[in-house]
Amino acid sequence: TPVILWVRQDLRLRDQPALVAAAHEASVIPVYILDDDAPGTWRIGAAQRWYLHQALDAFAASLKDKGSRLILRQGDGVTVLKALMKDTGATRIHAIRHYEPWWRKAEEALGDALCLHDGNYLAPVEDITTGAGTQYKVYSSFWKALAEQMPPGDPLPVPHTIPAPEQWPASDTLADWKLLPTQPDWSTGFDIWDAGEDAAHRAVDRFARIADDYDGDRNLPSIEGTARLSPHLHFGEISPRDIWRTIDGRGQGVQTFRKELAWRDFTAGVIVELPDYADANGRPRFDQLRWRSSKSDLTAWQQGRTGYPIVDAGMRQLWTTGWIHNRVRMIVASFLVKHLLIDWREGEKWFWDCLVDADYGNNSVNWQWVAGTGVDSNMFSRIMAPLSQSERFDAAGYIRAFVPELRDVPDAAIHDPEEAGCKPNAYPAKIIGHREARERALAAVKNV
Ligand code: FAD
Repeated sequence: TPVILWVRQDLRLRDQPALVAAAHEASVIPVYILDDDAPGTWRIGAAQRWYLHQALDAFAASLKDKGSRLILRQGDGVTVLKALMKDTGATRIHAIRHYEPWWRKAEEALGDALCLHDGNYLAPVEDITTGAGTQYKVYSSFWKALAEQMPPGDPLPVPHTIPAPEQWPASDTLADWKLLPTQPDWSTGFDIWDAGEDAAHRAVDRFARIADDYDGDRNLPSIEGTARLSPHLHFGEISPRDIWRTIDGRGQGVQTFRKELAWRDFTAGVIVELPDYADANGRPRFDQLRWRSSKSDLTAWQQGRTGYPIVDAGMRQLWTTGWIHNRVRMIVASFLVKHLLIDWREGEKWFWDCLVDADYGNNSVNWQWVAGTGVDSNMFSRIMAPLSQSERFDAAGYIRAFVPELRDVPDAAIHDPEEAGCKPNAYPAKIIGHREARERALAAVKNV
């Protein structure tokens, strides 16, 4: 009898322990289920649906090369899997473990039929705990504990063959799912992304050549100094253990990169301990903070029309390409939460819908970290100054690339054209002054 390979955010053949175990055991039925109910508000967002379409297409092609197929089904994951077992006579499901709360619930509901494998993180969550057996709340201690268990073992090779069942169950077609935007098609700028396992490895190879410079370059949004691996990692087109082994060396750049890569593992630990971290303040006293509700300010932020060039460039990069540079993510997030005093959850939701790399753990933990509402030690009162950040990290080229109204503004004025007395056509005035915003935020948090 065949076994089912349940793929989720692990669309790869290399270093895929669930696939290796399944192929070793019997004929394999690989299935991907689009489940828009179980995650509730955290169902896959619009930008990510675009990416998912390309990712599934690429993954189906690589299975086909191996004489296998990808079965597509839609509906409640547990119900679909149980029905598929009945129809095909399969008695076992192999899958890689995931930590999002809805996946954990589904994994539990499948009980003994499900055989879980670790493979999407540098280490399983339960292997990196404090002396008391809890998850770390402070990143530096987490990193120390994780680093002791590195390097990871060799990645598993792609199985030579993936035995096919005598009969294939029915499958939806990818086009049926209508994952791509139509009216209007906002995805033209997304063509910077190449989905799939081969593309993920090409991205690692590109980055390997510049990894030594990562320590300094990662903060400069005007250049491509980071790995651009986040959607590949989210969908598991490459394993982080594989990346760790490939990006090798003793230089500071490589060390800093590995430390960033390990943040994914840290956020997984946080959502295991606090599954509703995307919806609830890590520090409950922040429930008392009186956020402003201003639809027009929120819209100005979303559309990149705040009058702060670095913020506007970031928000427009997000809209046109589905991704933002990490330094700029911090700046725009801090701006929404502190300058506009709008609840971090509004920004988190917008990111969720617009990012090709939207990830339950990474998004919520980083938003709460910037907001200062989280379990880790960052403070609400740490307010980023967007204009000096823009200057310090040399964002002129970046601003010109994403804010066409400012294309002809000279370097000296581009970070703060208003202050420089330069009023480019159609570019809005600042939505609020920096000092005023800072005072308002500090006053609001005083009552908490
Ligand atoms: P690199 O710098 O090359 O890092 C390599 C990989 O390490 C990344 O692909 C990512 O998987 C991991 N990584 C790096 N930094 C972080 C971090 N701070 N937290 C967690 N993982 C990290 N990342 C997401 O993958 N999904 C999200 O939804 C997400 N939301 C964010 C929201 C905010 C407000 C902020 C400040 C950051 C968020 N990040 C998120 C983290 C980070 O910005 C991106 O992972 C990074 O910009 C991706 O680009 P890269 O692959 O070139 O990164």
